[in-house]
Amino acid sequence: MIQSIRGFRDILPGETELWQYIEKEAISVFSDFGFKEIRIPVMEKTELFARSIGEDTDIVEKEMYTFPDRKGDLLTLRPEATASVVRSYIQQKIYAADPAQKFYTIGPMFRRERPQKGRYRQFYQINAEIFGVAEANADALLIFMLMTLLKRLQVTDIEAHVNSLGCPECRPTFRNALIAFLSDRAEALCADCTRRMDKNPLRVLDCKVPGCREAATGAPAITDHLCTECADHFETLKASLEGLDVPFVVDKRLVRGLDYYTRSTFEILTGALGAQNAVAGGGRYDGLIKLLGGPDLPATGFAIGLDRLAELVPTKAESLVRHPDIYIAALGEKSLGLAFQWICTLALSSIRAETDYSGRSLKSQMKRADRLDAAYTLIVGEQEIENGAAVLRNMKTSDQQEISLENLPKTLADIIGA
Ligand code: AMP
Repeated sequence: MIQSIRGFRDILPGETELWQYIEKEAISVFSDFGFKEIRIPVMEKTELFARSIGEDTDIVEKEMYTFPDRKGDLLTLRPEATASVVRSYIQQKIYAADPAQKFYTIGPMFRRERPQKGRYRQFYQINAEIFGVAEANADALLIFMLMTLLKRLQVTDIEAHVNSLGCPECRPTFRNALIAFLSDRAEALCADCTRRMDKNPLRVLDCKVPGCREAATGAPAITDHLCTECADHFETLKASLEGLDVPFVVDKRLVRGLDYYTRSTFEILTGALGAQNAVAGGGRYDGLIKLLGGPDLPATGFAIGLDRLAELVPTKAESLVRHPDIYIAALGEKSLGLAFQWICTLALSSIRAETDYSGRSLKSQMKRADRLDAAYTLIVGEQEIENGAAVLRNMKTSDQQEISLENLPKTLADIIGA
């Protein structure tokens, strides 16, 4: 038997109902905020991710699914969506008509991380991006929209963490201060952090290895090194969130794993998921559109982890499962043929009907009706066909009524639809 690949899983009926519900709510909330869907390929040229995410990140260094296609071009299964959305915005010149655009996209991402609970190699994200708006209010709107969705889904036990990562003007001062601080504690750092310390010291703040966490205690805070513009931007973000009644904590250690972030950065954390405690993360990436060959336009966005969100939503998938409205137990060849026609016709009136295709015994058909939790049953045998009528039974109330077989789909649609 061929098994699925490690870290790649099936999402089965019984669970997919919940995923559909979440996606539906997300689409509804996002569209209320004026976001439009964009669909992007799952595979891109490797260069797109290497350039945008950054060579010295975990993702690019060791987590991408990269392979040469038959002509030798290096391709990568997308590890995140932002780079592709930006690529599309530039390639399709979407900015030409109006640089200010709001997009969302939903789909699978691929990272070769060590699989564990809440961490998969194929996982799903819901992304939202705002392009062409530099003001902190765009970041506040994203966080507000994200919290609105989580509230709509009745997710509790969450906390919004925010920070600022500064800009290319002020980050170097902070970097130097951080490198100076970490150099004194270099022996305590893990091999990855030691290697990356000079190029990407912010990553040490993000490292989950206990030694690194301890070594980073008391590290300088980037918010103490912001230039005036970045400091003002951060103040505006906080004031906007307060104005919108969004509770948040300023988290000085919050940095993001990807190089392209500037200024506002945020994460939604939960106490309910154990080690994998981030449900969503995002922030501003003002330099990315230009870096990828587009105009010099600002951008900001977030990604929700759908696999993790599904764990947090209290709605039970079972309550969303659609059970048959009616089970038609058919006995004898003629009944089987009629029942088959009826179930097809009923579906056109949005009545979900089931029947047996092979003419099994009444007992086994009724067992199946029970197992499927059908709301009504109708038994149609040779006798019923002869009489032109059959007994419709409401399985909940046990009420029975005789109905004519003539125009049966219409009669059933009237009774069940009511
Ligand atoms: P990132 O793109 O790394 O900022 O991740 C955004 C969100 O995607 C995280 O907050 C997680 O909820 C989710 N996520 C990231 N990596 C994984 C993974 N390997 N498995 C499941 N969810 C993930």
